[in-house]
Amino acid sequence: GAVLVLGLAACSGGDDGDAPGGSETTAAPTATVGVAMPTKTSERWIRDGDALVAELGELGFEADLQFADDDVEVQLEQIDAMIEAEVDAIVVAAIDGTSLGEQLEAAEAAGIPVIAYDRLLRDTGDLDFYVTFDNYAVGVAQAKALLAGLGLVDWAGVPTDTAPTGPLNVELFAGSLDDNNAYFFWQGAIDTLEPYFEDGTLVVKSGQTEIEQTAILRWSEDGAKARMDELLASHYADGSEIAAVLSPYDGISRGIITSLQEAGMGPTLADGLPVVTGQDAEAASVLLMQEGVQSSTVFKDTRRLAHFAALAVESYVNGEEPEPNDTTSYDNGVEVVPAYLLDVESVYLEDITTQLLDSGYLTQEQIDAGS
Ligand code: BGC
Repeated sequence: GAVLVLGLAACSGGDDGDAPGGSETTAAPTATVGVAMPTKTSERWIRDGDALVAELGELGFEADLQFADDDVEVQLEQIDAMIEAEVDAIVVAAIDGTSLGEQLEAAEAAGIPVIAYDRLLRDTGDLDFYVTFDNYAVGVAQAKALLAGLGLVDWAGVPTDTAPTGPLNVELFAGSLDDNNAYFFWQGAIDTLEPYFEDGTLVVKSGQTEIEQTAILRWSEDGAKARMDELLASHYADGSEIAAVLSPYDGISRGIITSLQEAGMGPTLADGLPVVTGQDAEAASVLLMQEGVQSSTVFKDTRRLAHFAALAVESYVNGEEPEPNDTTSYDNGVEVVPAYLLDVESVYLEDITTQLLDSGYLTQEQIDAGS
């Protein structure tokens, strides 16, 4: 009752009516929920883990929170242990979305509902529900931010009169190919940039335009820096300018930015650093934005994601099914998984206060500390 209503008021931005489950009853305080998060190397998963423990706690559930150091085997063992311990539900953000088949089968046999968190679990018929953001919209937001950073559209996405005519050199980065989200971010971005490639405004000088060529395993900052170093050495050593780099995630963005700066560009946008996009509003990248270095990020309020995941858990514990708001987008190779999607927000320099600070997602102290 009261706790749930408070949680909704604090965390939601208009989705209350369609909340999954939305049940009034709080389940028995003894229910335990396994929470399997991929890694602590990215800030967002630490925040997700904390938020899930808090949200589940408010509903009277205990959480068994595990991080797997981006090691697939470790995550499988953690989930095996959760099934062994007969938890009442499992919430999982997979490292490799195709690796959990056996675990899901065992969970299904044991009657344990599994909720995919943020990242889809693929190639299984045993997944119950998916709580995520509109991942295609993330890619669209990243592409629009790239276009805006180049002055081709304004910050509202409207084409400008003063647009540079091009051709402008850009390079593209994608996320980890074992993460289904990487394909959605990519597709949203490519669909949005396509007209600019077609009319020659934008050119991928390296010719690397396939997701397989641009992907960064496990979203690694170092991996991104290495690829950017290689692109600069192979395709820009003749002095050609690079105008922008599409990056799907703030950690990758920082790797790219380091590479560009080491090659003598910038160090800020004002003195010629290429436009680099991002995602997750990580403190270190928001700091770079405030310093005029990173051009944009995409804010996904992980507190809200945790909130809706906890509500989905509550539905299952009460013997109900959570209510999806999307039943068409997420085909996992075996079935279309019922999903609950949350909105995302583009963040430019002038949005930091309203979106990140005023909402309490980050404090200026955290931004200054870069973590
Ligand atoms: C998440 C992103 C995150 C990336 C790297 C994706 O699955 O949706 O928010 O940037 O993983 O951790």
